[in-house]
Amino acid sequence: MASVKERTYIMVKPDGVQRNLVGEIIGRFEKRGFKLTALKLVHASPEHLEKHYADLAGKPFFPGLIKYMASGPVVAMVWEGLDAVKTGRVMLGATNPLQSPVGSIRGDFALAVGRNICHGSDSVENAEKEIKLWFPEGTIQYSLAQESMIYE
Ligand code: UDP
Ligand code: MG
Repeated sequence: MASVKERTYIMVKPDGVQRNLVGEIIGRFEKRGFKLTALKLVHASPEHLEKHYADLAGKPFFPGLIKYMASGPVVAMVWEGLDAVKTGRVMLGATNPLQSPVGSIRGDFALAVGRNICHGSDSVENAEKEIKLWFPEGTIQYSLAQESMIYE
C-alpha cells in the first residue's frame, strides 16, 4: 500500500512540553497506528523558527509566534502511515482551540490560538520540507511488527 509511506511533521510546542503533554500527544499517534520515524527535543533558534514559519512572515502575530516558539524546547517528530498529513491535522484540531472539537488534542488541552500546544504539517509537500528542515540527518526506516493488524 503506497500511501502507508506518507509522512508528517508533528511538533509539541514549548507550552505542550511545559504542560507535560509530550507523552499524551505521542501516545495518541502511537495508538492510532502511526509509526514514529524520528524524534528529538530541540530548543530552536529564532532563525530556525523563522524558516519553519516562513509562509507567515509579515502576519501581525509573527513576532509573538517566533518568541513563543523559541521560549523553550519543542519535541520534533516524524510520524508515518496512511493519510498521515490529513489525519494528523484532524487529530490536532483547528488552529483556534476554541473551534477544535473535544477529542482533538487542541480541543482537549488548549484554549488560546497563540498557545495551541502542537504543530502538524498542512500538506504532503510542506511535510517533506519541514522534515528536511528539522531532520537534516534523515529519519529511521524500519517495519512495525503489528503492521498487518493495522493495515489490511
Ligand atoms: N497563530 C497565532 N495567531 C493567529 C494565527 C496563528 O498565534 O491568529 C499561531 C498559532 O500558534 C498557529 C501558528 O501561528 O498554530 C501557525 O499558524 P497556522 O495558520 O499555520 O496554523 P496551524 O497550521 O498551526 O493550525
Ligand atoms: Mg500551519
